[in-house]
Amino acid sequence: MNAQRTAIVTGSTSGIGLAVAQALAAQGCNVVVNSFSDRPEDHEVAAAIARDHKVEAVYIKADMSKPAECRDLVAGAAERFGAVDILVNNAGIQHVAPVEEFPVEKWDAIIAINLSSAFHTIAAALPLMKRQGGGRIVNIASAHGLVASPFKSAYVSAKHGVMGLTKTVALEVAQDHVTCNAVCPGYVLTPLVEAQIPDQMKVHNMDRDTVVREVMLERQPTGEFVTVEQVAATVVFLCSQAAAQINGAHISVDGGWVAQ
Ligand code: NAD
Repeated sequence: MNAQRTAIVTGSTSGIGLAVAQALAAQGCNVVVNSFSDRPEDHEVAAAIARDHKVEAVYIKADMSKPAECRDLVAGAAERFGAVDILVNNAGIQHVAPVEEFPVEKWDAIIAINLSSAFHTIAAALPLMKRQGGGRIVNIASAHGLVASPFKSAYVSAKHGVMGLTKTVALEVAQDHVTCNAVCPGYVLTPLVEAQIPDQMKVHNMDRDTVVREVMLERQPTGEFVTVEQVAATVVFLCSQAAAQINGAHISVDGGWVAQ
């Protein structure tokens, strides 16, 4: 791998992705920040990372629901920095509804953004990583990549798919000094989780505090939300030399959720 590494983090203008981009920049990586919106504040996220960590950081717009844009994101990063050493597939959305009422367009969008985008970015990045002599791929899956919850059929299906993709890619590139692993967070209080609280209130017929306590944190034995920094530090570890023999694995950062 290159001395100054280049990292792409999909969906990195907020939440976990932003924390991962910041943490990798703090390690000296150049960073590609991504989202689909292309607003001035998205570009400012990259500028702030560059300023704060004295690295190069650029914002590249790409809609992860579109296969060609996923692949163009990787090509754009390689063109800008000459390499792609780290790929973090983080972009994701959520929708909560009973399966028989689940909107088809939401199912399609969740499968595209939460699962298929990782297939496309990985397919585009692997030839570059192999040519460079190595790389790191980290997929942000979820506790829902390992266990299910009601009313999240698309999300749970996509995240279980990410776990299968992670293991398959790991086997295919095991001798190319590329590792492919997953991180499985429990509940992290990000905009994605904030946004699902009203839907959870509706399907469970509960108020906000009861949803947080009895639907979300009830699953986490610690009774606390995971922080974005804790997820980001796990990604940094998987990108380190110490993790060179961790391949096709997942690390749960979920307060003990899936130990039950
Ligand atoms: P978030 O909503 O804060 O951030 C999601 C990011 O993805 C944003 O930057 C958004 O712009 C981007 N994004 C959404 N749709 C996109 C698209 N079509 N193209 C490009 N970018 C797009 O969410 P988060 O909670 O930080 O989630 C990040 C990842 O972590 C997701 O994959 C999510 O499933 C996973 N995760 C989150 C939690 C949690 O509790 N927050 C738990 C487990 C896993």
